[in-house]
Amino acid sequence: MKKIPLSRVFINDEVREAALRALNSGSYILSKECEAFEEELADYIGTKYAVLCSSWTAGGFLLHRAMGLKQGDEILVPSHTAFPTIEPMLHFGAKPVFIDIDETYCLDVDLLEASITPRTVGILPVHLYGHPANLDRVFEVGRKHALSVIEDCAQAHGARFKAMRVGSLGLAGVFSFFPSKNLTVMGDGGCITTNDTALAADLRMLRDHGRKSKYIHEAVGYNYRFNEIQAAIGRVELRNVNSLNEHRRRVAARYTERLSDAVKTPPEIEWAYAVYHMYVIRTERRDQLAKHLQSKGIGTGIHYPVANHQQPAVTKIYSDLPKLPHTETAVKEILSLPIYGELSLEDVDYVCDAIFEFFAK
Ligand SMILES: *Cc1c(COP(=O)(O)O)cnc(C)c1O
Repeated sequence: MKKIPLSRVFINDEVREAALRALNSGSYILSKECEAFEEELADYIGTKYAVLCSSWTAGGFLLHRAMGLKQGDEILVPSHTAFPTIEPMLHFGAKPVFIDIDETYCLDVDLLEASITPRTVGILPVHLYGHPANLDRVFEVGRKHALSVIEDCAQAHGARFKAMRVGSLGLAGVFSFFPSKNLTVMGDGGCITTNDTALAADLRMLRDHGRKSKYIHEAVGYNYRFNEIQAAIGRVELRNVNSLNEHRRRVAARYTERLSDAVKTPPEIEWAYAVYHMYVIRTERRDQLAKHLQSKGIGTGIHYPVANHQQPAVTKIYSDLPKLPHTETAVKEILSLPIYGELSLEDVDYVCDAIFEFFAK
């Protein structure tokens, strides 16, 4: 039987050789490969700086720390996102103020202003599934109320809002290089992109034990460093990310063309260049469809079955959580279909045929 996974990393001989080169180089942490990767990432995203760190979660934590996030501060954030999006702020005692989603599954920008209180300090839009959030409105609200904007770009390497790559528009963008993401380092990893010189310097200091020179510690920091083997791999992945994203878009177009009469397919707004980290359809018969596809050797996923305002870790802390009707309905109906940079269109057709077979029954 055919086996089609939900996602798969891009790996070729160039990737293998890069890993071996770094392995044999004699330097392993924050050295030449890391410096080159940081420069290439900043250049690609369109910011002055990219600061590598050990994961998205570490990057979010470093950013909140560098910005002085405090107990009781509030950040506007979609509930429909990976749990790690809100994990760093919870460590600081800051409150995620959950915003419902629009049809792109990103935060509904028309709901932002009504959720602002005197304690609100920032907005954290998530470019979920690789589709950019409506950043024009996010920045309009942010400017009007003096809120910082941090972009969660974990699923959106190379996605564009109008002409700009996501991660280059806010105070900072945070990326993940976890193996399922559009750009991976074959392990955990992340980076923060910013144009702010002082912020970049603080992030570099904090990720490496708060030091500015080898033996002088200016602050109590962390070990959230990055390593040479993964940077060498990441540099090759970065050179391929545009063509892999382009292929994801071809896969998405094929799914949409074939499936839009059978299920709800994801929209792409005219100002968006989406990179389809996930291709997410909706149907009320989601669980039965997933089971049927599994029986055909097709991997699927649910991103995410439990929204963050309903997570036990959150409901234990806060009792005044909002009702989010669009989010609460979506989590019951969404299903992620296989998509990755090398998925053949023949396999896409196999998935579509299996879906039609399910609905014909
Ligand atoms: C993967 C992901 C994260 C967490 O990234 P890590 O590198 O695993 O810490 C955060 N936000 C979103 C939207 C993600 O998809």
